This record gives sequence, structure tokens and C-alpha cells, in this order.
Amino acid sequence: MKRKLFLCIAIIMVLACGCSEDKNIYVDPNKAKDNLTPVELNITSNDFSMDEKPFNIMMLNSTIGSDYLYVVSSLGNYHVDLQSGVVKGFCNITGCAHDPNSSVGCLNYFSFSSIIAADDGFYYIDSNTVRFHSDKDDIIVYENTYSTDFEEEYYPDNPNVLGALASDDDILYIIGPTYYLTYDTESKKFSDTQIISDVTIHSLCVEGDNIYYTNENDELYAFDTTKKESKKLSDKVNQVCINNGNLYYIQYENGTPFLFSMDLSSHKSTKLIENCYVNYCINGSNIYYQNRSEPYKIFVCGIDGSDPREITVDFVEYDENGDPIPYNTQRYFIFATSSNIDHVFIIDDERGVVFALKSGDTEYKTINANGVIYN
Ligand SMILES: [Zn+2]
Repeated sequence: MKRKLFLCIAIIMVLACGCSEDKNIYVDPNKAKDNLTPVELNITSNDFSMDEKPFNIMMLNSTIGSDYLYVVSSLGNYHVDLQSGVVKGFCNITGCAHDPNSSVGCLNYFSFSSIIAADDGFYYIDSNTVRFHSDKDDIIVYENTYSTDFEEEYYPDNPNVLGALASDDDILYIIGPTYYLTYDTESKKFSDTQIISDVTIHSLCVEGDNIYYTNENDELYAFDTTKKESKKLSDKVNQVCINNGNLYYIQYENGTPFLFSMDLSSHKSTKLIENCYVNYCINGSNIYYQNRSEPYKIFVCGIDGSDPREITVDFVEYDENGDPIPYNTQRYFIFATSSNIDHVFIIDDERGVVFALKSGDTEYKTINANGVIYN
């Protein structure tokens, strides 16, 4: 049975994010300027070019540039200054009240999809266009007019709809339901459009001359960009990414998700983590993940799955009477990192809290999207 990409992503995100009692809390970072208490995050990115980022449902909502972590969220869009830790909303429109219900065009509540950082801003998808957003500007980079019979049939309302962006060094991969093209962010040149799949692509990453992707049937393929042919590698797979020349992915066995790595020359795979939820993330020699059998517990382990250590995040807010509101961690978190930095961010998309950890550590600094830094 065919499924629609956006619908599917929305459902998976809802499943991933779980339920919340806090749905009516709106975070407006711009209103909290007086509360800003900068602490030194002092996170520096090494020779930032463009983030190396796969298309992976858990990585669509955050990206890390040379100066900022950007988060697009149902609570409001904000960025965190990597030096000072100061949090601010995207919106800098003069006179905007930043009200989620009444401020038409407020950038804090605009739906930016599949964001990827670049110098001074980020790329994102808006329906059938790729756009670049910065403090000064918001411009169309690419407007898609391409479709195949597949898109005409399964996306009849908008057959030119784009699915996501992925990046590999300076190359942006623009991904439609069954095809992709590239945009060289340096030379500003586009490639021809290339069909790689019969059905909708669900995750994608790039290593050398190969594109690895999964589709709506959870099949894993490698597409050789020189021979222009796809080869099936495995089944029941999703959430691919590349780290240090190895392919990582989630594969289900009897309903249980495992994290695997695959050596790309021998195609030999190794089972690393049992009950690893889809939102794993790799930074250097560490893997961060939530365990599905012990719901919501967060762990960091070695790159081979060894030595798992629990990360216990906590955050207390106070209500208007000054009474503490205990932190409910019964939810799935978003993990964000970049090859350019030695930090990982654990983002609570429902409460507007970000935890910043140095790679390998279980200690963290807490950043609240209201603009208050707690330690
Ligand atoms: Zn606004």
C-alpha cells in the first residue's frame, strides 16, 4: 500500500514525540530577552563548511551552523548561540508580536522543513521549492517542476512536491519522492534530475559515488551514481546515516529495532544496539540513543555499542506561585550534532528545553527556549 511522504513523516514524528500534557505551552524566545542569562557554552565549530547531514526523519528539525544550533519546533522556531548559549526566536520582523495565533507571517511559527545549515543561514524545503533563509533574506534557490508518473498518481495535489534535503560537504541533495538532483552551493550549479527509486524514498545518505537510501517498503538500496543503477542490500531497514565510512541504520527483527553498522567495502553488517529507537545520533566515537525496551531512557555508548551509560536529564520550571513543575521525561527527544563540533544537543521539542553535552560526557548544560540558561 502506497503512503504519502509527508503524511508518513508526520505520523512518525507524532509517534516519535509521544504524548504530552504540555501542548498548550507556547514558547516565545523573543519575549524573554530581559531574562537572558548568558553562560559560556563556548562550543566552537572546526572549519565549518556545510553540515554533513543525511535525510533522516529525526534530523529534519534541527541543524548546526558555524554560530548557531537552529531548531524548528511546534513550540516556536529558535536558535541557540553556540558561544554564549543565548536563545532567540527566528523572527526579527519589526513590530511583530510573535503571537502563534494572530501574528501572520511570524517567522517563529513558520513551518521550515528539512533545514540544513550553511554560512549565515540555512536551506529548507517549502512545498516544491528549496529556499535559503538568513536574517536579511529569504530567497528561492530552486523551484521544482519535475515529476514522474509515480508523483502524478500518488501526489495528485502537488506532483512537484519535494521531500527533503541532505548534504555532503558543499553539495546539497534535493530529494523528491522517487528522484534527486544536486546543487553545488559553491558553484551554484544544479545537476540533472535522476530517478533512483520506484516508490517514495524515506531516508538517504551519501558516501563517495554511492547513495544509500530506504524506501516506503523499508528496503535498503545503494545507488551507484556512475553506473546509474540501484542494488538492493537489505530489508526492514530505515534511518540510514554515514559515519567514518560505515553505514548505520535501524533494522527490525521480529518487531525489535536494532542499530547496525555495515562495512561499505565488504557489505558485512554488525549488530550494535538492541531496542534502539529511530532517533539515534553519532558524534565521533560515540552513539547517542533512546532505548525502546526501557522507554525514554537516554544512553551514550561507544561506536561499537560497548559501555552504555545512562544520561539522566532533569529540568524544573516554576509556576506562577513559585511551586516547582516537575520534569516529565516520558517522551522521545531529538538529538542534534555535526561533524564540525564535539558536542551533542538533546532537544525536548515539547517543553522547549535543550541539553548540551560534550561528546562522550553524561554531564550537560541546560538551555531553556525561554532564553534562560540554568547551569
Ligand atoms: Zn514574529
